[in-house]
Amino acid sequence: MNGSWAHFESAEYAAALKVIEALKSNGHRAYLAGGCVRDLLLGEEPKDFDVATDARPEQISAYFRKTASVGAAFGVMLVRDFGQTIEVATFRSDGVYSDARRPDSIEYSSPKEDAQRRDFTINALFVDPLADDEAHQIIDFVGGQADVKARMLRAVGNPEDRLKEDHLRALRAVRFAARYGLEIEQGTKEAIRAHARALTGVSIERIGEEVRKMLLHPSRVRACVLIDELELDDAIFGNEQSFEPSVMKTLPESVAYPLALVALAIGRGFTIGDDAQTVCIGYRRALDLSNADRDGMRGIFECLEMLTNRWGAMSESERKRLANRDWAREALVILEAIEPARASAIRSQIEHLESRFGGLCPEPLISGADLIELGIAPGPAYKAILDAVYDEQLEGRIQTQPQAISFVEEQVSRQKTQ
Ligand code: ATP
Ligand code: MG
Repeated sequence: MNGSWAHFESAEYAAALKVIEALKSNGHRAYLAGGCVRDLLLGEEPKDFDVATDARPEQISAYFRKTASVGAAFGVMLVRDFGQTIEVATFRSDGVYSDARRPDSIEYSSPKEDAQRRDFTINALFVDPLADDEAHQIIDFVGGQADVKARMLRAVGNPEDRLKEDHLRALRAVRFAARYGLEIEQGTKEAIRAHARALTGVSIERIGEEVRKMLLHPSRVRACVLIDELELDDAIFGNEQSFEPSVMKTLPESVAYPLALVALAIGRGFTIGDDAQTVCIGYRRALDLSNADRDGMRGIFECLEMLTNRWGAMSESERKRLANRDWAREALVILEAIEPARASAIRSQIEHLESRFGGLCPEPLISGADLIELGIAPGPAYKAILDAVYDEQLEGRIQTQPQAISFVEEQVSRQKTQ
C-alpha cells in the first residue's frame, strides 16, 4: 500500500490517468476500480485499468472525442482518446438478479453502492491515483484493504445472498483464491458449498471461461483442489470424482489448454485404456470447449495410448510419424508423470531418431507432381504410394530421389502383373 500504482509505467495506465484527470477537471469523481486495484495491491501486473466515475454515459461521450458504448444499459463506456481503450463505468447499484446472471436493471448511484454490488472485497476497492496524499488514495467501503493484508477472499456483504444473485461467483472465488494464494473466508466458503448444486444453472459458456482461466494459470492445482473441497465438481462436470493432483503438479507453468484438461481428467480418475472419446465429449459439453480444444484433448489421449501400449512394437517409420504428430510432446509430458522410466526411454529413442536419415520429418523425396510425371493416373492410389515411399525414406532404405522413383516404378509394375 505504498502508492505503487503511482509509479506504475504502462501506456494503458497513463491513458487511464488522463481519463481520470479529464473527468475530474469536469467536476466529477473518478477512480481506478476493480481488478486493477486488486492486482496492484497484491503485487501482480494488472491486465487492464478500469475507471469508475459519477459521470453518466452521455456526459462521458461529450467529454471525449473517441468513445463507444459497450453496455450503455449497464453504464459502461469505452474511451479511446489516448491511444488505448479504457473502460469507464458509471457508479451503479445492480437491481434484482432474476436470472442469477445479469441484473434486470441498474441504477446509477454512489461509489459506496458501486463497491457493494461487487463480488469480493478485494475486487471492490477504488484508488484515486491523483489524490494529494497516500492516505487518501485508497477508497475502501468494504474492508478490502484488511482482506488484502490478511490474504483473504471474502464476499462483499452476506455471502449467501451474493452467491444466490450469481452462482458463477463460486467459481470466481476459486479462481481468485488460487491465483493469488488467498484463503477463502469461512462464511464465504460455507455459502459456496451450500449452494454448489446451483452452479448447474449457470451457462456453460461462463463456467467454461472460468475453468479455462483457472487451468491456464500456474496455480491450476490449487484451483482444482478447491473445486474438489468446495464440492463444485459435480455441478461442473456432471459427476462426483475426487481430484488427485500428482500428474497436474508436474506440468510446466505455461501449457496449452488441452494439456491441462488431460491432466485434470487423469486427476479425476481417467486411466489409459479407458474410453477417451467419452471423456472428450463430456468435457466439451461441460466446459463449452472449442472443437480445437476437444481435438487437442483427443490427440493427447491417442498419442498417450500409443506411446504406452504400442511404441515398443513400432518400426522406425511408425515411431517417427508418432513422434512428429501434433500433441505427441504434450502426451510425453503426461507420460513422464505417470511412467517416468518409460517416458525417458522414449525421449532418448526420439532423440536418436532425430539424428537418423533426415530426422523425424524430412522433406519427402517425391511428391504427387513426380507421380504425374511418371505417368501414373491421379487417384486414390497416390496417397498409398507416397506413404509407402515416405516410410522407406524414414527407415533410411531410400535416400535419394532416383531411388524413390525406381521404388515407385517397381511397385506400379508389380501391381500391374498381379
Ligand atoms: P480478471 O479480469 O482478472 O478476470 P476482474 O476482477 O478484472 O478479474 P472482471 O470480470 O474483469 O474481473 O470484472 C471487473 C470487476 O467487476 C471485478 O473486479 C468486480 O468488482 C466486478 N465483477 C465482475 N464480475 C462480477 C460478478 N459476477 N459479480 C459481482 N461483481 C463482479
Ligand atoms: Mg478484468
